[in-house]
Amino acid sequence: SIKLSNRVQAVKPSPTLAITARAAQMRAAGKDIVGLGAGEPDFDTPEHIKAAAVEALAKGFTKYTAVDGIPSLKKAIIEKFKKDNGLDYQPKQVLVSCGGKQSSFNLTQALLNAGDEVIIPAPFWVSYPDMVLLADGVPVIIETTQAQRFKITPEQLRAAITPKTRLIFINSPSNPSGIAYTLDELKALGDVLKEHPNIIIATDDMYEHILWKQGTFVNILNAHPDLYDRTVVMNGVSKAYSMTGWRIGYAAGPADLIEAMTTVQSQSTSNPTSISQVAAEAALTGDQSFIDDMCVEFKKRHDYVVAEFNKIDGIDCIETDGTFYVFPNIEKLLARLDGIDDDLGFSEYLIEHAGVALVPGSAFGTPGHIRISIATSMANLEKAMERIRNAV
Ligand code: PLP
Repeated sequence: SIKLSNRVQAVKPSPTLAITARAAQMRAAGKDIVGLGAGEPDFDTPEHIKAAAVEALAKGFTKYTAVDGIPSLKKAIIEKFKKDNGLDYQPKQVLVSCGGKQSSFNLTQALLNAGDEVIIPAPFWVSYPDMVLLADGVPVIIETTQAQRFKITPEQLRAAITPKTRLIFINSPSNPSGIAYTLDELKALGDVLKEHPNIIIATDDMYEHILWKQGTFVNILNAHPDLYDRTVVMNGVSKAYSMTGWRIGYAAGPADLIEAMTTVQSQSTSNPTSISQVAAEAALTGDQSFIDDMCVEFKKRHDYVVAEFNKIDGIDCIETDGTFYVFPNIEKLLARLDGIDDDLGFSEYLIEHAGVALVPGSAFGTPGHIRISIATSMANLEKAMERIRNAV
């Protein structure tokens, strides 16, 4: 067998993508599996967005573009930041990438040296720790509990910072917890970060628009405009416009850091797909009513699933602020089930014996929980909840 790099041996494939693939495999083998693992909206991409891509294709817009994105899309992104977030950027502060995933990847590659520490609050998006490892950095995980609504406190943040801390990821609303930080909470975290000028802040706003609790979305720059010179805002069209397969994400931040991230991208993928960029521009500048319709549907499903989980002895499921995930605590259930020790065992049991695929909390750094994606039909959710009820 081939001896692989230490770097690649330190990381694992995305566990959420693995579960989705496994469910698909079992289905292909004739098993009836309800998939609650998916990290993507179950709606079709809106027609006007698809039409823009079709037109671009017909016009022959099929060649390399500028690595950092076409000027008209960057303009649309700058206007979006102004309108939705009250943030001002120049074109050289914006980089368009192949999904939000590449934004984080570019950032970790451009910023980290071997041994640099990166603070990652748990439960976390599965890719952060592995991307840090691929950049020879050291993930420093801050654990949280359901009692603190899966949000880190300023005291926890202060305790995690060392002279080696170089970066912190903040993801609000969060995949997988569905919980968002309030302006006051972000202010308090920002107060701590202000004391440590060496730390770059990455705010991953991917779920900005899938939010029902707070009214308006806020990120750390709204709470602390004075952190502007060392904050990278990451967002994308994947979740808001049901465009996961188009692969368009974007980042905005200090010009020198964005330039370095662009260099990383220029030596890996080059530009994101030309016609996807045109589609993303149509998404950002066109009719936004799709988002509200999608949120109404997600909220309905959220209310149903949370209520159903809380009827099960041993499961404690808090209401989320947004996203299309719920993240119930199953510790009491595990204590009463014979032969199942942890969330990994429980997830394995459900897929094998109940035909329900979901992701164990351990994949997100928070054992004793499970993540359910509600990005599937109400009929599927009803079927899944019945199966889970029967299985426990
Ligand atoms: N950030 C978070 C928190 C996510 O959950 C995801 C997708 O699951 C991404 C970023 C990346 O999204 P994409 O690369 O599909 O644009």
